[in-house]
Amino acid sequence: MTARSDRPDWLRIRADFPVLTRQVHGKPLVYLDSANTSQKPQSVIRAVDEFYREHNANVSRAVHALGSEATEAYEGARSKLAAFLNVPADELVLTSGTTFGINLVAYSWALPRLRAGDVILLTRMEHHANIVPWQLVAERTGAKIRVVEITPSGELDLDDLRAKLTGEVKLLAFTHVSNVLGTVNPVAQICREARRRGVVTLVDGSQAMPHRAVDIPSLGCDFYALTGHKMLGPTGTGALWARRQHLREMPPFIGGGEMIKEVRFEKTVFNDPPHKFEAGTPNIAGVVGLGAAVDYLRGIGMDQIEAREQALLEIATRELSAIEGLRIFGSAPGKAAVISFLVEGAHAHDLATLLDLEGIAVRSGHHCAHPLMAHFGVPATCRASLAFYNTHVEIEQLAAAIGKVRKLLA
Ligand code: PLP
Repeated sequence: MTARSDRPDWLRIRADFPVLTRQVHGKPLVYLDSANTSQKPQSVIRAVDEFYREHNANVSRAVHALGSEATEAYEGARSKLAAFLNVPADELVLTSGTTFGINLVAYSWALPRLRAGDVILLTRMEHHANIVPWQLVAERTGAKIRVVEITPSGELDLDDLRAKLTGEVKLLAFTHVSNVLGTVNPVAQICREARRRGVVTLVDGSQAMPHRAVDIPSLGCDFYALTGHKMLGPTGTGALWARRQHLREMPPFIGGGEMIKEVRFEKTVFNDPPHKFEAGTPNIAGVVGLGAAVDYLRGIGMDQIEAREQALLEIATRELSAIEGLRIFGSAPGKAAVISFLVEGAHAHDLATLLDLEGIAVRSGHHCAHPLMAHFGVPATCRASLAFYNTHVEIEQLAAAIGKVRKLLA
């Protein structure tokens, strides 16, 4: 792992990511799709590999040596992630990702509580993972969904938010950072206002975790969901933090082994949180890898990562803005390193396909944000999402390739 220093050596850090040395279509890979999933450093790959080679056993079941080692590694990773978020480990439920975490809140917290006439408040910039579970809850309970709109620069319209935080609102679920616009929402301020009105808050932290230090207590939310694969960890990992009181009151979502203290056919006594919510054999090796990802991010320092990505974003915004006919979606001050764009006369998929032939990986499509696309009146955009392992040269390559493709499609 790369040691922390005042000035990280970003090229050395980049060399920790084996896949970044790949060629694609005979060209060096330029990976600009980290908001979709991040690449993994050697230390994460090694942690998963080592787990299977040396410690593989199930957790919390066997007293033999490997069983204890596996449990220690799994719970150790939970503790690392909890410390990273500045929360107690027993308030952190390990999940398969943000989608599972939000569904857990939808089924265990919202479904038993919400009634006809209640309101679930969402925002225009949500990922489908923070829309569809609430629609399912609304259908079953008779609750209604309302939506906070955004400003032309892609920020949440806080006046609209205040106006819609009425007495019927029981839950406000919103993203920390937009996966399309890069907007960083003022989570602490929003949660304060919600709390003052007795509204419970859920924050989707998927796109914040890879880019900035997240200190959950200072955010003041009730639930914080995150996904491991966007923050250098393996796919199928993630976590849901919830206030202790909610975890105590919520019934289990999925039943099975691991989540019980005693099972009789007449009645089952559930385990304490967080294990009450972790039925079945979890993704043990993945979670161990996530622990290694946390170590890696800490080793560099989230402040350094944020500064590096802001510098790259500035260059990318300048380079792309200079391209004739290119429109960028989202210009909120302090936004994260995500640039959604369209080029006049080119369909997003055609653009992404031609960029791929240049070795450049960007995402094209609706980015699981149909309502946001509808707001802008477009079916799709291209999205270049940066990580600290990207370079200035790669951004120049992107700009040059877009220029070339533009001429081709003209
Ligand atoms: N929320 C946001 C803002 C995202 O960007 C994503 C992933 O793209 C998700 C939720 C869903 O994450 P996962 O598929 O890992 O559950």
